[in-house]
Amino acid sequence: MRPDHEVVIVGAGFGGMGAAIEFKRQGVKDLLILEREDDLGGTWHVNRYPGLAVDIASVTYSYSFEPNPHWSRLFAPGAELKRYAEHVADKYDLRRHMRFGAVVEGARWDEDTHLWTVAIAGSAPVTTRYLVTATGFLSQPHTPDIPGIDTFAGEIIHTTAWKDTYDLAGKRAAVIGTGATAVQLIPELAKTVKHLTVFQRTAIWVVPKIDGRIPPVVRRLFAKVPITQRVARLFNTALLEVLMVAGVLHYKKVPMAGRSAAALAKRHLRNQVRDPELRRKLTPDYDFGCKRPTFSNTYFRAFTKPHVHLETSGIERIEPDGIVAGDGTKTKLDTLVLATGFNLWDVNFPAIEIIGREGRDLGKWWRDTRFQAYEGITVPKFPNFLTLASPYSYSGLSYFTTIETQMRHIHRLFGELRKRGADTFEVTERANDQFLDRVTAKLDDSVFYAGSCSTARSYYFNQHGEAAILRPTSTLNALREAGRFPLDDYTYA
Ligand code: NAP
Repeated sequence: MRPDHEVVIVGAGFGGMGAAIEFKRQGVKDLLILEREDDLGGTWHVNRYPGLAVDIASVTYSYSFEPNPHWSRLFAPGAELKRYAEHVADKYDLRRHMRFGAVVEGARWDEDTHLWTVAIAGSAPVTTRYLVTATGFLSQPHTPDIPGIDTFAGEIIHTTAWKDTYDLAGKRAAVIGTGATAVQLIPELAKTVKHLTVFQRTAIWVVPKIDGRIPPVVRRLFAKVPITQRVARLFNTALLEVLMVAGVLHYKKVPMAGRSAAALAKRHLRNQVRDPELRRKLTPDYDFGCKRPTFSNTYFRAFTKPHVHLETSGIERIEPDGIVAGDGTKTKLDTLVLATGFNLWDVNFPAIEIIGREGRDLGKWWRDTRFQAYEGITVPKFPNFLTLASPYSYSGLSYFTTIETQMRHIHRLFGELRKRGADTFEVTERANDQFLDRVTAKLDDSVFYAGSCSTARSYYFNQHGEAAILRPTSTLNALREAGRFPLDDYTYA
């Protein structure tokens, strides 16, 4: 039976676009990319809060095969990432495959036709031979269930739904949350609002950001002699690799790496904040690396301004005109900003209902057993299905290393399908079990298990207490395996 499409990809962010580019390289012409938003770019389309910028240097945070010599800064602002995504979509002719405003509700494998049926809200379902979910790790915003939040009479803004036209000048504002988003946002808000209270539940490690404008002469050099930008990328990527492998994955063997980073962050705090009590509140009580560390030269300093207050006694309740803190004090507010992050483990993984062979429900199965995916991309009993935002898939610090590893996996797998004249693949239970055993054993050495993370409240940990996002190998190892995994780890038909 002929499907409506050969490949359906859910998500038009960098992951989905990378997969689409790979399928086009494989000669697939009949490709549909379904995107719930009204434009492409994923995270970089959705997030528009003030201060938004990449926190991995841009030479590395981009596709290696599509370098961008035009980045204005070492760490490009969010709008440039969005423009880069648009450029990639145009250059690789992806736009004509994209359907926006298409909210995928679920997908089901049909054992008779060997096709996936994809349900889309408000329109007819589509069938496809191959299904790819590229729905991202941080795509389901978390809105906290704080007593009284629904009664707040002022403006509530989640950082993923920034209101560009809302004027913050002269406002009495509060930010809930002190994650990577808040670290970028708070110094910017502090410039505009009349009064800012930051409700911090867990302090975050912040190290200095070595940022700056890339002079036009260097940009011209990158454009004219691309090898120079490749060398810069290699250097920065190697640095990130050392940080990741030594500081996070091999914490048990080299605890000094993480401790040195923590010492750097503490020195940074000392340099910017004189008040010892404020410093104490801003100092994390868990090991560096337990949750994503952040980079900023302006975050700590923002709290030293007279109109900025750090509240650490918790939130008792929200009232129509303000927040009552844990110590009983009330802060009157007209604007409440939720920098409260994303829900990964309840509503993501997977972001949509996926029903495979024998009626296996992926989300339920992951929760009832363990979160798992062979090489972070395929799952037994889910034929012809590739899940990009998967357990143990995130490799290295830049998301692009994960994307390109997965592109390479797709290349090898679909090359084999073509060679065999087959059109169905499924990873074996044995290969999946072995991969899970291997990665979970390796994680024992990581900061997540060998370090002190119990107070970090890190989204790296799932509801079973497992740090099941990062692939605990070097990115080189992940890339090598994607190009060499045993072909009989799959069955073909
Ligand atoms: P996040 O790291 O999950 O931080 C959410 C914050 O909200 C935390 O401080 C959390 O406190 C707080 N929070 C949540 N519910 C709360 C409640 N009920 N009461 C009080 N506080 C509450 O989310 P994020 O800051 O959006 O960052 C998520 C990830 O996005 C980052 O780790 C990073 O990977 C990515 N990111 C990247 C960039 C970039 O430059 N590329 C920028 C921003 C974000 P607890 O810690 O106590 O739970």
